[in-house]
Amino acid sequence: MMARTPLIAGNWKMNLNHLEAIALVQKIAFALPAKYFDKVDVTVIPPFTDIRSVQTVVDGDKLLLTYGAQDLSAHDSGAFTGEISGAFLAKLGCTYVVVGHSERRTMHAETDEVVLAKTKAALKHGLTPIVCIGEGLDIREAGEHVAYNVTQLKGSLAGLSAEEVGKVVIAYEPVWAIGTGRVASAQDAQEVCSAVRGALAEISDDATADSVRVLYGGSVNAKNVGDIVGQTDVDGALVGGASLKSDEFATLSAIA
Ligand code: PEP
Repeated sequence: MMARTPLIAGNWKMNLNHLEAIALVQKIAFALPAKYFDKVDVTVIPPFTDIRSVQTVVDGDKLLLTYGAQDLSAHDSGAFTGEISGAFLAKLGCTYVVVGHSERRTMHAETDEVVLAKTKAALKHGLTPIVCIGEGLDIREAGEHVAYNVTQLKGSLAGLSAEEVGKVVIAYEPVWAIGTGRVASAQDAQEVCSAVRGALAEISDDATADSVRVLYGGSVNAKNVGDIVGQTDVDGALVGGASLKSDEFATLSAIA
């Protein structure tokens, strides 16, 4: 099996202005010595309005962490008021962009087709899309979560070449675990992440599926991250609430 470098991504959601962002990035960098970056990739995903400031700190202080955005437009430019192009994010030095977070799927009615278009836009601009999937509580309780996630994954990546599939990161985020404090068990995370890898092999090939990082997200913290990322098919975490606390985020990154 290919060794996959774990990825810890901190999704700040709509929290922290650009001044607060600078302070948090500096605190995380201080709390996470350079030696950890040999074994884990760490990225922060602030609001759009913080990205330029984060870039200045990361470049100025030569920090090893990367940064990204929480969403992007499916379009490159034009009459799309309020939208942000992948071209702009690439120009700001973003490495990652989250696509299809459950909050966008729910509150902004983003379908798999929209997520696919945004995934393609990210790849076009050299950004690594972190494509989010995950079932609601009703689906989990009906025992249909594996099939549901596989369908969502295939819809969100439909028609991509194996080379393109090899450039994405997948985040399995059960909706019932996001921001609720109710974390999936390590076995639950492994069950879906391993099914995701199987589905990736179906739409590309074994070597590609083996190389793609599959993250878990949903109430991850410094206490539970070790168990979760210890699973064979879980290659890191997308972290919401705990990514706003510098010490906790640094600690859980170090554990991963
Ligand atoms: C998220 O927003 O992607 C997330 C996983 O949030 P939390 O860690 O707060 O559950």
